[in-house]
Amino acid sequence: MKPEYTSKTPKTILTKGNGFLSGYSYSLNPYAGCSFACSYCYVRQMPIAVFRGADWGAWVDIKKDAAPLLQKELKRAKAKGPVTIFMSSSTDPYQPVEHKERITRSLLETMADDPPDFLFLQTRSPLVRRDIDVLQHLGSKVRVSMTIETDLDHIRKHFSPYAPPIAARLKTLELLRDAQVPAQATIAPVLPSSEQFPHILKPLVNRVCVDDFFMGDGSGGKRTRRLGIQALYTEIGMEEWYHPSAWRKVYDRMRQVFPEEQLGVNLEGFSP
Ligand code: SF4
Repeated sequence: MKPEYTSKTPKTILTKGNGFLSGYSYSLNPYAGCSFACSYCYVRQMPIAVFRGADWGAWVDIKKDAAPLLQKELKRAKAKGPVTIFMSSSTDPYQPVEHKERITRSLLETMADDPPDFLFLQTRSPLVRRDIDVLQHLGSKVRVSMTIETDLDHIRKHFSPYAPPIAARLKTLELLRDAQVPAQATIAPVLPSSEQFPHILKPLVNRVCVDDFFMGDGSGGKRTRRLGIQALYTEIGMEEWYHPSAWRKVYDRMRQVFPEEQLGVNLEGFSP
């Protein structure tokens, strides 16, 4: 999806953590809007999307001059206590336009110079590999969380046709592993996957997060119901996967190859 881009100069860049993000002191969003437009994205129902008057995925705001702002706010925040940052809570920090804009990279460079206590970098884009050099400077103070909801690309295409292919995400995990950048595979939300999935992930990561619509949408599955996601399962005859116990099937498969301490469910899987 080719969104409409708007450049904005924000007044603040760090947002105090709350709700789902209560384990983090701040969230950091280099963009507003998200061109990946996943069908199940809970941000679709948040005020930022609802009051925009345009479809989710059809617009992206680029936060210009974010790095000097972060430099200032980070210094102030660190003076008050430990700083843990979730990047990003309502966009993917690696929008395709990041190739050119380099906003996320500039924020990472700022943090490499003046590191927070911990940075959780949540993405589903292989573009994160471009920034491996900066991530290496952050050492153990960063973890890249690569969303891989399924190992089956036809399932990915059905639920999020504009998001990057699964193979590119797996390749990125391989590069992060080789560069010794801490990373995890985040199976969230759990989508239908194959029995091979754990064996594909095993050589790539030593940490896997499993989360689903019912635990992870912040409303016990109500938000996802309002988005009409169940119909997408019906279309492909996989209704049994749209169930509060479906995550367990994936977890049990993962458990066959990963020790329990390498698996995190729901909030635990996103914790600093
Ligand atoms: S990548 Fe994340 S923020 Fe973007 S649409 Fe998908 S779920 Fe929403």
